[in-house]
Amino acid sequence: MKPANDLRQQLLRLDGKSYKAYNDIKGQYSFERFDLSIDHVQGDPFAAPSRVRVRYSNDYPEWMMLNDSRRTALCDYLNRQFARACRRFAQGNRGSGKSGAVFIMEPGQEILQRTAVVLRNGYIELRFRIGLPAFGRRIAGRQAAAILLEELPAIVEHSLPHAVQSEERLREHLFTNEDADALRARLPELGLVAFVADGAMLPRASGIDARPLQGGLPFESPESLRVEVRLPNRTLSGMGVPEGVTLIVGGGFHGKSTLLRAIELGVYNHIPGDGRSFVISQPLCAKVRAEDGRYIEQVDISPFINNLPGRQPTDRFSTENASGSTSQAANVMEALEAGATSLLIDEDTSATNFMIRDQRMQQLIPRQREPITPFVDRIRQLYDERGVSSVLVIGGSGLYLDVADTVIGMIEYRPENLTARAREVAEAYPQERARESEGHFPAPPHRRPLPESLDAQRGKREKTRAFDTRSIQFGRYDIELSAVEQLVEQGQLAAIADALRYLRKYLGEAPLPEVLDLLSADIQEQGLDVLQPQPAGDYSAFRRLELAAALNRLRSLRVTS
Ligand code: ADP
Ligand code: MG
Repeated sequence: MKPANDLRQQLLRLDGKSYKAYNDIKGQYSFERFDLSIDHVQGDPFAAPSRVRVRYSNDYPEWMMLNDSRRTALCDYLNRQFARACRRFAQGNRGSGKSGAVFIMEPGQEILQRTAVVLRNGYIELRFRIGLPAFGRRIAGRQAAAILLEELPAIVEHSLPHAVQSEERLREHLFTNEDADALRARLPELGLVAFVADGAMLPRASGIDARPLQGGLPFESPESLRVEVRLPNRTLSGMGVPEGVTLIVGGGFHGKSTLLRAIELGVYNHIPGDGRSFVISQPLCAKVRAEDGRYIEQVDISPFINNLPGRQPTDRFSTENASGSTSQAANVMEALEAGATSLLIDEDTSATNFMIRDQRMQQLIPRQREPITPFVDRIRQLYDERGVSSVLVIGGSGLYLDVADTVIGMIEYRPENLTARAREVAEAYPQERARESEGHFPAPPHRRPLPESLDAQRGKREKTRAFDTRSIQFGRYDIELSAVEQLVEQGQLAAIADALRYLRKYLGEAPLPEVLDLLSADIQEQGLDVLQPQPAGDYSAFRRLELAAALNRLRSLRVTS
């Protein structure tokens, strides 16, 4: 460990030299209040900025680190604080390309475990990036000294323990996360798929802005669905979405999809003030939709699809180009394979022929000529035989009234319990259609992915990369993920991309669910850092469902059963 002043001298000496000479500053330096580690130096001022770490001793009071919920929230809070300080104290543009950029991975509305801030027994480590400055390809040594020896200490100073502007806010951050976790852990005993707190604000500011809508109507549970829960730091009341089959009905633009979307994202915890901090759902609930064009590798979609033209087998269905219905069927079966405990479906993003088939269609196109067993005829079996609940947004088809346990009506953003009324309607207007499902709902498939089919090689090196929340580059392949709707930040994709690479060591013999278990155990034990050779701050926590979703969309994937 060298003194910080050495770094200053070195940078001044490097001034005007060719960019490569920056490699000399790699190493550790001790500052007054922290240690700096320069781990990796970018190739030129236009490349991805250099990787650095700051470490300081962990002087936070014990209560902030009492359990995993609080520790995660503390790191998340420091991450946000550091990001804010970067914006405030880094001057930014200091030459060519990315010269002078100082940034840390920026959290969105979710409180997640990330590698940007790591809490260990004795210390806290922040991992971020600095664009080492240059004019053209010549090192701007004086600018570099200003960034590393003036801006950086100011940034760190403002994210240190004593700089936490308001302990009140930090406390609420920690307690909110703790209560959200506690609430999620209580769902099984309450028999709920999800809980939506009274007072929650579900709509977002806009289609491209995840912050809460100002002036929207706060959520208020119908009396008959109201549940009260006592949590470590508060007691809440709200609407319980029971296990079983639940419909969300109502007129167009009355808030149905908004409610479902909030439930979808209730697998994550949210920051105080988000409006959805206490909208909490089962950790393994899976949003499922149609996704035509996707790749499918040997998935058993036979519960939904049979007798395809050309005698294609549907118990091991593969395609380079799925249709709406086959893609949605595969999405359901893959979610079950990966361990989903409940399914969320919105008619807005579903294939109609996957969802329903009415009496007239049954007359016009006989069963033998229709490959599809619609979801409406399997949804009860899914719950009664396999314990998998469904929450469906349905505005268009009354067929589902016959199979629902609970019907929630959204009327001008206000939920009402329409279960009894829906039963009356179903009895008064009976459906003449025939039920089309036979037999049982089979156990989900146990496919064994072949390790050699996961190859991240691109040219001479292995290469993975994440593009926003939309896609992953995995070697020579692009994994399209825009239809995987429960991904919320780029860091999850970065981690999933490297998890796919890491996974290979467990592939071969074991079926996919077991492989996912092994990986989860490693991450549980060693943290997300287990996925990378060198510590970097680019990962966010992800679920096994999304990892499986990425694997399933990798067009080189091959499996045996
Ligand atoms: P649906 O799926 O029933 O057609 P959406 O859920 O898409 O309707 O909501 C329609 C519009 O209403 C959206 O612009 C949404 O942001 C807004 N909205 C939803 N819930 C609320 C609310 N509680 N208060 C105010 N606006 C809301
Ligand atoms: Mg809708």
